Amino acid sequence: FLSIQNVNKSFGDQTVLKDVSVDIEKGEMVSILGPSGCGKTTLLKIIAGLEQPSGGKIVINGRDCTKLPPSKRNFGIVFQSYALFPNMTVEQNIMFGLKEQKALSKEERRSRCEEVIRMVDLEGHRKKYPSQLSGGQQQRTALARAIALKPEYLLLDEPLSALDAKVRVKLRTEICHIQKKLGITTIMVTHDQEEALTMADKIVVMNNAQVEQIGTPHEIYNDPKTIFVANFIGTMN
Ligand code: ATP
Repeated sequence: FLSIQNVNKSFGDQTVLKDVSVDIEKGEMVSILGPSGCGKTTLLKIIAGLEQPSGGKIVINGRDCTKLPPSKRNFGIVFQSYALFPNMTVEQNIMFGLKEQKALSKEERRSRCEEVIRMVDLEGHRKKYPSQLSGGQQQRTALARAIALKPEYLLLDEPLSALDAKVRVKLRTEICHIQKKLGITTIMVTHDQEEALTMADKIVVMNNAQVEQIGTPHEIYNDPKTIFVANFIGTMN
């Protein structure tokens, strides 16, 4: 469905991704898990088309999309650095992307906006500006903005890392719920073992530019294939 095939990436003489291959099924929640600097974000950017690989292919629905620009890939992206527009309210932030969807009527856009605001539980905050929102509410707005466009794929880069523990646990459950309800194939980058183990259908453990193991949370936890995976999962707190 989405296939990452032998992807390599170097910046100068630094190899950031080495022969990475992952197959992702429709509707799956896949977590890319690994320590800081192992290449997770770079892999996500290559999937999104924001970076070009030095070698290998991204195949989406059977079609080689490696050279396709990001706008043609039907991805919703919530990167940590994908800031909200500060001079727009929650509603306006969500409507902004919807305005580009020419096939939708004005009423359809409005009702889509309402639907996602309800979904992420922001009904009481629709007129607020980002500076008036908590971190969790900002993250919810970014998520709402992405899912409002009904993307085929959702790419999340450390979506919860800036939040405190309590909000993080709550949002984990909410993201999983929305993801399953809408059936959006989701790829989430995280360095947090617990996040990957509790949210993902499938985990890709990366270290040092390479894939160490791919498996279900159960397999990764109970049957680590390398010393690195055993230690990395074992250091969970
Ligand atoms: P973190 O969890 O800290 O975000 P990561 O696993 O997502 O880490 P990447 O952001 O993919 O790691 O970065 C992997 C390596 O590639 C790092 O050593 C980084 O310095 C390097 N790198 C990333 N982008 C560039 C770039 N545009 N130019 C040069 N080097 C880069």
